Amino acid sequence: MSGPTAAGTYFDGRSARPHPVELRLTDQLAITGEGIALAWDLFAVRTAGAVPPITRLRRAGDPALVEFSDEVFAASLRAACPDFEQEEKAEGGGRLRLVLWSVAAGLSVLLVAIFGVPAVAVRLAPLVPSGLEARLGAVVDGEIVRLLDEPPECSHAPARAVLDRLVQRLAQGRNLPAEIRVSVRKHDMANALTLPGGRVIVLSGLIERSKSADEFAGVLAHELGHVAARDPMRSLIAASGTSFLLSLVLGDLTGSTIIVAAGQAAISAGYSRDAERAADDYAVATMTGAGGRGEALASVLERIAGNEKREGASDFLRSHPFTDERAKRIRAQAGGESEQARILDEADWAVLKGICRGAEKR
Ligand SMILES: [Zn+2]
Repeated sequence: MSGPTAAGTYFDGRSARPHPVELRLTDQLAITGEGIALAWDLFAVRTAGAVPPITRLRRAGDPALVEFSDEVFAASLRAACPDFEQEEKAEGGGRLRLVLWSVAAGLSVLLVAIFGVPAVAVRLAPLVPSGLEARLGAVVDGEIVRLLDEPPECSHAPARAVLDRLVQRLAQGRNLPAEIRVSVRKHDMANALTLPGGRVIVLSGLIERSKSADEFAGVLAHELGHVAARDPMRSLIAASGTSFLLSLVLGDLTGSTIIVAAGQAAISAGYSRDAERAADDYAVATMTGAGGRGEALASVLERIAGNEKREGASDFLRSHPFTDERAKRIRAQAGGESEQARILDEADWAVLKGICRGAEKR
């Protein structure tokens, strides 16, 4: 049996005696130690509150407790256990939730047949468990990179540090998933794609065509608006339709048809006009709140839209249809902000622009 391992402590829930154990993550969580050989179903593993660096786990309906302090292992578990974030409170609640989720997905197949996919996707997206969404996001990420012909990842360390700080600032105090992963890929297209699970892929053409940090950050904030509204999950469900729902029922999430559909949807399918407007509003509020200029979003979108009209490359326009009405609305909302506001100083922006330094195709 292979799989990541960590040293931990097991409490049986009846006495306070700690038992040293080895934890191993496979398709179950194996807990082994002197006189202890347990295998917990990943669907039943729940966080029992973390006190960094210690992670505590329970199994749904079980008084036993496991503790360990290995962050890499904790991350693997979080990704593998669909209901990890459901803090274990009531006995048996987790199992019930899983059953309800399956029933809901099964019903949805029926509803899709009656009402059509988009209407159901809107209702269903917020119900997808976060662990499941995170796993889906990782798979779709890989698929998009493949569809784009494996553009190398840009991660020049000093620039990456500036980007991380920028993302943190934009995400602060906004209603977003705990983990936002922004990756940059070396690609001529000026675009940014939002994926399920709080993932954003920035194509480096966007950084090249941004004339200021505020312009770039504005687009990033717009993408975070899609994350906050769970638009990627919605469009994924809509794009893959009943096959996604069926695969949820059958438990086969990495079914290739879904992933291909999801990847293509993320690259080319647009969000609705309302979703774009909401993401713009979110971006302006985020930028102003973080000390930047929301108005810059309108400028960069106008420039990219203008270029694409001339060059006939419309991928960005297709994924974020841009109109004069949107530009007007962004400027109106950003009306009161300071002319002097800058999201990054010039030095940081210059460093960030070098993020693809050393990024070569393997
Ligand atoms: Zn958008």
